[in-house]
Amino acid sequence: MLPEVGSLWLLRLLRDIQLAQFYRPILEELNVTRPEHFDFVRPEDLDGIGMGRPAQRRLAEALKKHRSGFKSKNWVYKILGGFAPEQKETTPAPDSPLTLPEPEGGLKCLIPDGAVCRGELLGSGCFGVVHRGLWTLPGGQSVPVAVKSLRVGPEGPVGTELGDFLREVSIMMNLEHPHVLRLHGLVLGQPLQMVMELAPLGSLHARLTAPPPTPPLPVARLCLFLRQLAGAMAYLGARGLVHRDLATRNLLLASPRTIKVADFGLVRPLRGARGRYVMGGPRPIPYAWCAPESLRQGAFSSASDVWMFGVTLWEMFSGGEEPWAGVPPYLILQRLEQDRARLPRPPLCSRALYALALRCWAPHPADRPSFSYLEGLLQEAWPPEGRCVRDVTEPGALRMQTGDPITIIEGSPDSAAWKGQNGRTFKVGSFPASAVTLADAGGSPATRPVHRVSPAQGERHQESVDGDRGKAKLRDLPPAWGQRRNVPLQRMKGGAERAWSHPPGVPGSTQGHWGRRGFCHPEPQGGPALPSE
Ligand code: AMP
Repeated sequence: MLPEVGSLWLLRLLRDIQLAQFYRPILEELNVTRPEHFDFVRPEDLDGIGMGRPAQRRLAEALKKHRSGFKSKNWVYKILGGFAPEQKETTPAPDSPLTLPEPEGGLKCLIPDGAVCRGELLGSGCFGVVHRGLWTLPGGQSVPVAVKSLRVGPEGPVGTELGDFLREVSIMMNLEHPHVLRLHGLVLGQPLQMVMELAPLGSLHARLTAPPPTPPLPVARLCLFLRQLAGAMAYLGARGLVHRDLATRNLLLASPRTIKVADFGLVRPLRGARGRYVMGGPRPIPYAWCAPESLRQGAFSSASDVWMFGVTLWEMFSGGEEPWAGVPPYLILQRLEQDRARLPRPPLCSRALYALALRCWAPHPADRPSFSYLEGLLQEAWPPEGRCVRDVTEPGALRMQTGDPITIIEGSPDSAAWKGQNGRTFKVGSFPASAVTLADAGGSPATRPVHRVSPAQGERHQESVDGDRGKAKLRDLPPAWGQRRNVPLQRMKGGAERAWSHPPGVPGSTQGHWGRRGFCHPEPQGGPALPSE
């Protein structure tokens, strides 16, 4: 069989080092057609095609020489190279295994086209569709995965979509965290495909809005997710990245108790002394989730991610409602800045957690807590767990049976009525404080001061409601300060997919065109023009 013209370089290179027998396996099984593709090839991949380690070292040396005299013009690598964090070139020691440049953080490999088969459609995003898939490893095992394929127009990949897709790959290939979605590898086929860890339970937003008989998520679970999210975001921030699209639609459920941050298409590296990324050009951003400085100046930072964390918290406790529903995008900034309005406290959200959200929504980025500080604040605001000690059937009270686990949303040692969620029925309401003992109290009346349960204890308690009994403490929290300043929100009809154009009163304005859920182009009112991206 004749070699393809485009891959003659590979044949020549392999012949020079007496490894021509690997030409077909490298081309066909590893899908390598350009020198840069070797960036994604691991020693194990070469083991898989039967190449021994000494041969791998020869190959690495030859590649190094080849690449030092060769500048890539391949469109994928031109772009990916531009996005990818700097990678050190490595020179293999004579007796070390192959040291092809490998992205930091472990395996992100090039996956042969035929090794992944796609199944059911899971969803579609900005620049591609996501299918459930099965990845067959060289050893024959199959791994369930999610496969995101780049949408390709009749003329080939569209510029910004391709850029975002490759940017997402280059960001994800360097990430490794238990609550960040993992990228397994890339298929350099037609179309380009990202092979990712599968989150079998789909997006948190879909779960929050699932109709009955799916039960609502318990408050303690939401707190657990918030803690996981804060941890993942602290990790991203420590790596100098800003997510820019934090929302429940981008949190995926890997298991009933585990969320993963996903969708890295808008992630950008933070730059400069102020650790900011200033976008340019009118590209869509999720308006209702954005901090004022993002809406006004296109400025994003870890502090603007913290603002989005507050909005995500609000979504979680509102059952996946759309923030600022009915408020035209061009008015959101005005509401935030001039009226100093904030999203209202959802009924499921305790005052302590709402106070935390309000801190995330501080007007000045510097006044917002960091993600690592938020982890501590979450611990402070963790709702205590209790247990019902007598049946409650009084009219108007939350119905409970003896033994029901109760999450206390609001209550103080000196108040007779508390608010909580019954962990058996998931219903929320007020109940007599005397009907519940706190998780540790060993039968002590709930109305005496007790210690607050820690997140870890609360979580354990959720996992085994009959098992652990942590210490619980209730504090009488002052009404959240920001709540008093809140301007009641005007709610209008409209769903998540509303389109806004030429809103009344803004002559000729095209502001606020909603595309993808919650997205629109930032065109600030009276703010400085956005520089080009
Ligand atoms: P995205 O393009 O990342 O916004 O993904 C579009 C949709 O596909 C998401 O809203 C999810 O419903 C689904 N999806 C994306 N990635 C995964 C995954 N790794 N596991 C399961 N579903 C996913």
